Amino acid sequence: MKRLKIKQILASEQAGEKFKVGGWVRSARMSQTVGFIDLTDGSSIAGLQIVLDSETNGFDMLKDIHTGCSVLAEGTLIESPGKGQKYELKADKITLLGEADPETYPIQKKKHTLEFLRQKAHLRVRTNTFSAVFRLRSHLSQGIHDFFRRKGFFYIHAPIITTSDCEGAGQMFQVSAPSEKEFFGRPAYLTVSGQLEAELMALGLSEVYTFGPTFRAENSNTPRHLSEFWMVEPEMAFYDLTDNMDLAEEFLKALLEYMLENDLEDLEFMERWYQKGLLEQLRNIIEKPFERMNYTEAIDYLQKSGKDFEFPTEWGHDIQTEHERYLTEEKIGVPVIIYDYPASIKPFYMRLNDDGKTVAAMDVLLPRIGEIIGGSQREERLDVLSRRIRKLGLDEEAFNWYLDTRRFGTVVHSGFGLGLERTLLFLSGMANIRDVIPFPRTPGNAEF
Ligand code: ATP
Ligand code: MN
Repeated sequence: MKRLKIKQILASEQAGEKFKVGGWVRSARMSQTVGFIDLTDGSSIAGLQIVLDSETNGFDMLKDIHTGCSVLAEGTLIESPGKGQKYELKADKITLLGEADPETYPIQKKKHTLEFLRQKAHLRVRTNTFSAVFRLRSHLSQGIHDFFRRKGFFYIHAPIITTSDCEGAGQMFQVSAPSEKEFFGRPAYLTVSGQLEAELMALGLSEVYTFGPTFRAENSNTPRHLSEFWMVEPEMAFYDLTDNMDLAEEFLKALLEYMLENDLEDLEFMERWYQKGLLEQLRNIIEKPFERMNYTEAIDYLQKSGKDFEFPTEWGHDIQTEHERYLTEEKIGVPVIIYDYPASIKPFYMRLNDDGKTVAAMDVLLPRIGEIIGGSQREERLDVLSRRIRKLGLDEEAFNWYLDTRRFGTVVHSGFGLGLERTLLFLSGMANIRDVIPFPRTPGNAEF
C-alpha cells in the first residue's frame, strides 16, 4: 500500500488506488451509519475527507475521535459525491493513534484570535493559518537558495558567535559561559549581521550570500521587530550602488514569482482570510519597475506632503516607518528604493559620496511593510575607511582584519540584507512579525 502525504494523494487523482495516511483531525462528524473526518497532515491547505461506514474496521471508535486527535486511515481513494472536494478516502480501517480531549485541547475548530494562538505557539501549527504561513516560510527559503544558485552565487556561513560589532552600536547580546565569563578570551556576542564576514568571502569568491539567524538586543517592541530574525545577505565584488539596487529589485521580484509558482494555494488562502487583493499586489510588484529616489528628494516629498508626521522630516533625520509607508503607499504606489543617505545616520563601512556628506546606502521600501532591504556600496578606499573608523571613535586596531581587505587587492563591492520575516509579513498579509516565525523571541519573551 502506498503511503503518501495528503497533498500527493490528492494530486495523484488515482481513484481506485489504496492509500494509507496519517494525520490530525480537523473535525469529525457522524451519524448511526456513516462518519466523516476532515484530516490534515500539514502537507497542504486542502485536507482529505475520510469516509467511514459500518464496514470500516474501527468504526465504533469514531465516537472517541475529536478535533486534534491523530489517526491512521487506510482505504481507497474515490471520487467524492459530496460538495467541497473532488476526492475522498473510503476507509477500510481507522486507527486512533493519540487522543485529544475536547474539554482541554485548546485548538478547537472555531476561529481563534492570533493573540490567543500566539500563547499556544507549540500547537498553533495545527491550524490552517499557521500551517499555511510556515509552508510559505519554507518555500520562501527554498526560493532564496534557488535565486542565488541560478545566479552562480556561493552560499556561505557567517559565524553566529562573533567578536566584531557590525554597526558600532551597543545592541548585541553578549555570549558567556557559566564557568568562564570570557570563554573566548575576550567579549563575544551573537551576530547582528553576517555582512563583514560576507565581505571577506566576497573578496575572494566574488559573489556570495549568507542566510541565517541574526540577533538584536534593541528594545523595540513593534509588530516589525524580533530579537532573533533571519536575514539573507548577498555580497558582491565589482558591484557599485546601481548594480546593488538592480540586484535587490531583481531578487525581490524573483522571490514573489517563485512563491506564485510554488505555493499559490497558500497565498490564495492568505488572500482570502487576511489580505484582500494580495495576489494582484504581488503581480503588480513583479511587473512594474521600482521607483528610485535619493534621500534628499525623499525628504523633499515628505516636507511637501502636507502630512502631520510624528517624526521630523528635516534633512539629516532618519526616515521612519510612517514616512516609508507614505512614500510607497500614498505617494508612489509601488516599491521605492531610497539611496544616498546622510553619512551621519549610517554605519562606518558605507562608501562616502563625493559630496562628502552622503553615503552610497540604499533601502528598499514596500507598501504595508516599510523597509524590507537595507544595503550599501562598501567603502573600498583604505584611507577614507580608516578616517571614518577613527572619527566614529571605533577601535581601528580591532578592525585590522577588515582593513586588510582594503590594503591588499581592494575592489569596489556592495551588498544588502533582506529580512526574511518582513518578506513573509508582506507575502502572508499577517500584521505581526511574531506570527511568521515559529517561536518568536522578543523583549521579555523567549518560550520553548
Ligand atoms: P529598522 O530600521 O526597520 O529597524 P534596520 O535599518 O535596523 O531596520 P538593517 O540593519 O538594515 O535593519 O537590516 C536589514 C533588514 O533586516 C531590514 O531591512 C529588515 O528587513 C530586517 N530587520 C532589521 N531589524 C529587524 C528586526 N529587529 N526584526 C526583523 N527584521 C529586521
Ligand atoms: Mn536598514
